Amino acid sequence: MKAHDGMYIGGEWRPAAGTDRIEVVNPADEQVIATVPAGSAEDVDAAVHAARAALPGWAATAPAERAALIGALRDVLVARKGEIAETITAELGATSGFSENVHVGAPIAVASSYAELGAEYAFEERIGNSTVLLEPVGVVGAITPWNYPLHQVVAKVAPALAAGCTLVLKPAEDTPLTAQLFAEAVHEAGVPAGVFNLVTGTGPVAGQALAEHEGVDLVSFTGSTAVGRKIGAIAGAAVKRVALELGGKSANVILPGADLPKAVASGVADVMSNSGQSCNALTRMLVQRDQYEEAVSLAAAAVAKYPTGDPRDPGTRLGPVINAKQRARVRAYIDKGVEEGARLVAGGSEAPHEHGYFVTPTVFADVTPEMTIAQEEIFGPVLAILPYEDEEDALRIANGTVYGLGGAVWAADAETAVAFARRMDTGQVDINGGRFNVRAPFGGYKQSGVGRELGPHGLGEYLQTKSLQF
Ligand code: NAD
Repeated sequence: MKAHDGMYIGGEWRPAAGTDRIEVVNPADEQVIATVPAGSAEDVDAAVHAARAALPGWAATAPAERAALIGALRDVLVARKGEIAETITAELGATSGFSENVHVGAPIAVASSYAELGAEYAFEERIGNSTVLLEPVGVVGAITPWNYPLHQVVAKVAPALAAGCTLVLKPAEDTPLTAQLFAEAVHEAGVPAGVFNLVTGTGPVAGQALAEHEGVDLVSFTGSTAVGRKIGAIAGAAVKRVALELGGKSANVILPGADLPKAVASGVADVMSNSGQSCNALTRMLVQRDQYEEAVSLAAAAVAKYPTGDPRDPGTRLGPVINAKQRARVRAYIDKGVEEGARLVAGGSEAPHEHGYFVTPTVFADVTPEMTIAQEEIFGPVLAILPYEDEEDALRIANGTVYGLGGAVWAADAETAVAFARRMDTGQVDINGGRFNVRAPFGGYKQSGVGRELGPHGLGEYLQTKSLQF
């Protein structure tokens, strides 16, 4: 795989300050496919300086002009879709179809939305005798995970650019090649030098240096709740803005009267997509006691149709998980589920292949709300099906974790489902299979995060307000 040997800083690829490297591994066959530089605090400092230097010019650029450049960036992503999708499949292990349609398709839609929103957004409004100005926060430090290596980058960069902010991105160690391709796209689109900068490196070194840098005004982080807590503490101590998109344990509530086969099939597909590595994955399926065994059989049968294997093979529906550590973590959760008394109805902790970080698609029945597999984020192809007695019981179970990111409700009609969804403590709820909307705010209640991404709400995160009375 093609890899840059440097960091994209100030509009050019510059050599890293140090000599440390990160190996990029294909999780499907465990082969090293490239290496990239592991950035140091010195590289982060250079990138933040470049972003600060570019800030006044970019903030003063007309919103329509900034939006037009986001449109140009979108066009480059469209033109290079195939190459980016191949890279994502190689370093993440996502199946080719999913890489193209979702991993690249979604960020293209997000960039399009900001090419429009950035031009039409009201950066000024009159309230009584005040004019309220919405101004860019300044320099953004963006720290992203590996599970949606392009989408999570675009979900930060596009609104930040629309707002007039400049950025330094520190992508996940496992998926730096996609980030490098994105930097190439930014360059090709003609975004001015220094507006977007890329420093590859590890979390504890480059990530932490970026979060701590006094030249960074806002840290926008997506990743685990454990690291999010650290980032929040750093930002709190420095009184800088922070946005955190963290983990989840989302409930898929199937109410009596819903189309059960459709709801179960859709729920299984959601958990298995991206090998279970989605922060908003519907990992807890809640089914009323009378329909419970039927739902369990349907789920077990559906999971049998998810062959694991080479993600480039059109017959493969489930690629590997990201790395050996993640595979060990997921398998330990499966063992824990069995140990705590859940009933394994499909899959198990045994690996399906000798090579590659594969996990067998797994379904647990008879899961109780207090079990570890019903409380903690597994981040693998593992579904837990929980029975409930009545709606109040379902609501208590759905709301009974520290998380609140996604969710779904299925009912006989939208009205019944919406009434239930209003009582859920979570940031997003899909009603009867409602599709993902790139303009709707995305983010968490409770320990799933602080702030929102996407659409006008996402743009608002990168703005600060000033009011003038006259
Ligand atoms: P992670 O928290 O380990 O890493 C995320 C990023 O933070 C990486 O770039 C990493 O290098 C960096 N990082 C790690 N330690 C750091 C430190 N001390 N200081 C600064 N940066 C540091 O998470 P992960 O394993 O890469 O991703 C999986 C997690 O992300 C899951 O828990 C998932 O739910 C969550 N996630 C949330 C969302 C969301 O939108 N809410 C989206 C995707 C993933």
